[in-house]
Amino acid sequence: MQAGTGRTAAGPGAVVVVGSIGADLTVVAARLPRPGETVVGSRFSTVLGGKGANQAVAAARAGATTSMVGAVGRDTFATLALDALRADGVDVRWVDEVEGATGVAHIRVDSRTGENDIVIVPEANGALTTARVEQALAATAPASPVVLLQLETPMEVALATARTCAELGLRLVLDPAPASPLPEEIWRGVWLACPNETEAEILTGTPVTDVRSAERAARWFLERGVRQVVLTRGGRGTVVVGPTGTTDIPAFGVTPVDTTAAGDAFAGALGAAVAAGLAWPVALRRAAAAGALATTRHGASPSLPTAAEVDSYLSGR
Ligand code: ADP
Repeated sequence: MQAGTGRTAAGPGAVVVVGSIGADLTVVAARLPRPGETVVGSRFSTVLGGKGANQAVAAARAGATTSMVGAVGRDTFATLALDALRADGVDVRWVDEVEGATGVAHIRVDSRTGENDIVIVPEANGALTTARVEQALAATAPASPVVLLQLETPMEVALATARTCAELGLRLVLDPAPASPLPEEIWRGVWLACPNETEAEILTGTPVTDVRSAERAARWFLERGVRQVVLTRGGRGTVVVGPTGTTDIPAFGVTPVDTTAAGDAFAGALGAAVAAGLAWPVALRRAAAAGALATTRHGASPSLPTAAEVDSYLSGR
């Protein structure tokens, strides 16, 4: 065990991520065009994206043995995505290759303000089937007590994941992003929900502005069967509400340059820590550090920290 980092796990835990995979195509310009206008930009990048893939990379970098369940098309973005997942040690045997295109996100960044806008086209992510997810979870279940899920794949896939996790006794961590109305029955299969403030408000109808309103929103999830709610509040930290009460955890003090994927870094690191059997406060601390570190670097998947980076950050505190 290293002082300060609280790494007491017996070994790496196993995590399965059910979710979206794609390519992030990012353009940076000094000014975003108005409708009908063309501007000349300064930078372009193509990197692995999709909330599911980001969380898989985050979990793998956090030290978990990680498998991804999802779908890509048959194009160059599929190769890019699969190569990037493999490069981080993510097992892609449950990623289907389907006819057509891989999912993409078109991201435009204003270099002066840091503002961005994003158009996501799901493409192959829409082809992930419930049968495939059930098969993958059954096959990986004995080794994988923790499953991560987001909402960029079809709703029936989310429902099937929740149902199968309940049946197999797997701990399902749902990051309800992008927030959309969900059938009530999904919550019975969710062990932990980690919405941000906006998602919590959309789902529960309670605007989250402080710890008390965060607690009120969290109760909505608990009343529906969720065991733990970890409500993330960006630089304002995290409010954790569960059977033992409410804890307000302040964020680490960092200077953010790009907050994209902070939530994915957090969810992946939390899933990995829980799977590794770390004590709950230690798991939350490592997740918060991963989220904070992700904001100090540009981009989504490139900004996700490794376990060693989290160790070194925490040991310096
Ligand atoms: P999302 O990306 O889903 O909106 P958040 O922005 O709430 O998620 O970030 C997830 C977690 O990452 C936060 O709970 C916090 O621990 C950490 N984090 C995010 N932004 C910052 C920041 N500006 N400073 C420090 N930590 C941050």
